[in-house]
Amino acid sequence: MKYLIDHKQKLIHKTAYAGDACRFNETPLEEREVSHSKDDIDTLIKTKGYMVCENCYHSNSFIVK
Ligand SMILES: [Zn+2]
Repeated sequence: MKYLIDHKQKLIHKTAYAGDACRFNETPLEEREVSHSKDDIDTLIKTKGYMVCENCYHSNSFIVK
């Protein structure tokens, strides 16, 4: 799984499911980071107050639009 970290909104997205509703397009490129590490994500959530994105993080399969 590949994650997109939005450092401006302090949100964690799953790139496979992220879409327009995630609104990370409003975040400058330099404040976005891609990570493959679930450990990094967990650390951000537990120690830095990051939240998971409700629009995409809980998806386990492709959404039919
Ligand atoms: Zn999202």
